[in-house]
Amino acid sequence: MKNYDVLIVGGGIIGGSIAYELAQRSLRVAVLDRQELMREASWAAAGMLSPAPDSPAAIPLVPLGRGSLALYPSFIEAIEEASGRRTGFRTGGAIEVLCHGDPERELSTLVALYRGLGLSCEPIPLAEVRAMEPPLGRNARAAALLPEECSVEPRALSSALLVAAASVGVTLSPVVNVISLALEGKKCVGVVTSRGEILHTPHVVLAAGCWSSQIPEAAPYAPALPVRGQMLALRHFGTPISHVLRSERGYIVPRNFDSPQTLVVGSTLENAGYEKRVTAGGMEKILSAVSELVPELSQAELIDTWSGLRPGTPDQLPILGEAGIEGLVFATGHYRSGILLAPITAKLVGEWITERRTSLDWEAFSPLRFLRRNADRSAAV
Ligand SMILES: Cc1cc2nc3c(=O)[nH]c(=O)nc-3n(C[C@H](O)[C@H](O)[C@H](O)COP(=O)(O)OP(=O)(O)OC[C@H]3O[C@@H](n4cnc5c(N)ncnc54)[C@H](O)[C@@H]3O)c2cc1C
Repeated sequence: MKNYDVLIVGGGIIGGSIAYELAQRSLRVAVLDRQELMREASWAAAGMLSPAPDSPAAIPLVPLGRGSLALYPSFIEAIEEASGRRTGFRTGGAIEVLCHGDPERELSTLVALYRGLGLSCEPIPLAEVRAMEPPLGRNARAAALLPEECSVEPRALSSALLVAAASVGVTLSPVVNVISLALEGKKCVGVVTSRGEILHTPHVVLAAGCWSSQIPEAAPYAPALPVRGQMLALRHFGTPISHVLRSERGYIVPRNFDSPQTLVVGSTLENAGYEKRVTAGGMEKILSAVSELVPELSQAELIDTWSGLRPGTPDQLPILGEAGIEGLVFATGHYRSGILLAPITAKLVGEWITERRTSLDWEAFSPLRFLRRNADRSAAV
């Protein structure tokens, strides 16, 4: 293998976006993947670009998510231009629908929370929501419009990104399985592959999704774990749905706006190890959530099912930056938001490697936080 300034371990949306960014900064970059690139979580995703937190744990992620959403239009324009391919990027917003509990009270809590986090969020009367989305069912009890949210087709974006990266000189290397890091003291000098080769480089970026924790030297800093998400696609013959629709139980993401319409529907959150099975129970859960939102979808044609492994972390936040090992940068653990966070992750890693600074403080996502927490716990015993 020739000499590279940077070797990126993992050819998902995160590794691919970083590679594209670094090549734009005139570095010689190779992306190593143990299989075909872009076939894991990045292939399985729904493609919602939503910085809204789906749990209290996700609140620290909002500034990163907002920053990344703001970068999306120019990111897409660059990728589409360099690749000559479309990515299915759509603006127009999402509608969050409340069906349970005390919907009016929950709606005002949600609107206050989102606005407090700097997110646009408008409560909308149900009659208005039904005028916007005629197929919405009677279970909807309150709703809010998040007008700035967008969506993208992850598989289209992933393949366009690979073409764009190759067009700016990135080497894409499938079937290269990295089994460990080559360390000399506190310095990372390359990676070791399953063929026993040592590939030397001044910079390694670890972007191996939920498998990042399987690289022994990285595991203490990147305790990534797989969180399975099952998905399905429907062909809908009724009035097309024009927004992303989300409830507490599931979501519907339109892929086109005419009839028949393809809708991607999800998802489950399961700790099932590295097993990507689609299960009867998973499908039942998703279909029941979706029928609650839009009952007529029980008549839609089921055209596909799949599952993927999100790169989860113990605190549900990504793992970004250095861990005191020179030449090694972590970019993993993006959990439910890796498609959204790809542009900002690429920008921050690009800045760090070429300028030794970042335009946004990423300390909250430091790979050292897990060691610090373990040390605090031991001190408390
Ligand atoms: C069902 C589902 C729905 C989702 N919906 C959304 C959504 O709507 N919006 C959103 O923003 N995010 C969503 N996500 C999350 C998003 O898909 C992930 O956060 C993102 O794809 C992570 O990208 P990645 O590049 O880190 O990981 P991956 O795409 O998993 O890529 C990791 C790559 O590393 C490679 N690799 C692993 N180990 C090694 C090794 N030892 N050597 C070489 N290569 C290796 C793998 O083969 C793989 O190609 C969803 C995820 C799922 C599963």
